Amino acid sequence: EYVNLNEFFNYILDRFDMMLKTDNEQAGKDNNQSLPAHATHKQYSIRREITKRDLWVEIDQDKFMQVIDNIMNNAIKYSPDGGVISARLLETHNHVILSISDQGLGIPRQDINKVFDRFYRVDKARSRQQGGTGLGLAISKEVIEVLGGRIWVDSQEGKGSTFYISLPYQPLDEDGGDWDEA
Ligand code: ATP
Ligand code: MG
Repeated sequence: EYVNLNEFFNYILDRFDMMLKTDNEQAGKDNNQSLPAHATHKQYSIRREITKRDLWVEIDQDKFMQVIDNIMNNAIKYSPDGGVISARLLETHNHVILSISDQGLGIPRQDINKVFDRFYRVDKARSRQQGGTGLGLAISKEVIEVLGGRIWVDSQEGKGSTFYISLPYQPLDEDGGDWDEA
């Protein structure tokens, strides 16, 4: 279906801001078992640089949300407490580009091409205590490639990581109609 990526990306991120609130409200009480693992005892803030333009793209909403959720959860999981996550969305002449940056552990150079492989996790010891299977990014890659898009990462160990997604995008004509060419 066609989805306004601008609105949808904001909606996905709103859920992460809400989870943070829920976590803060739960702090002090001892019954936060119902919360997702990443939302417990981890502080973060999200900075948004998101175009105000409507960007209609053809995606499967559920699958796309799963991809962004995984990248966001990774950004939280592999960052120290209080990390800043930057979420960006912009358009080029025929693509939309979305990125999520963290100031976390980063990915060592020799692992950077492997993080999209099934079950691959950097440093088993480091990852084990975080929970997870190492499938999130492999699934993300499949979902994005089915849409004709690309996913990649830029990272520096000890500094942080930026995950990028680009999707083909055909802007509507100025007059809003794309049927009058024939
Ligand atoms: P799952 O997503 O299945 O719960 P996972 O998070 O370990 O488990 P992926 O999301 O596929 O699996 O990520 C693969 C590995 O890439 C992670 O185990 C981690 O080592 C590394 N990684 C992913 N995102 C980041 C990040 N933002 N910063 C540092 N390392 C990362
Ligand atoms: Mg993951």
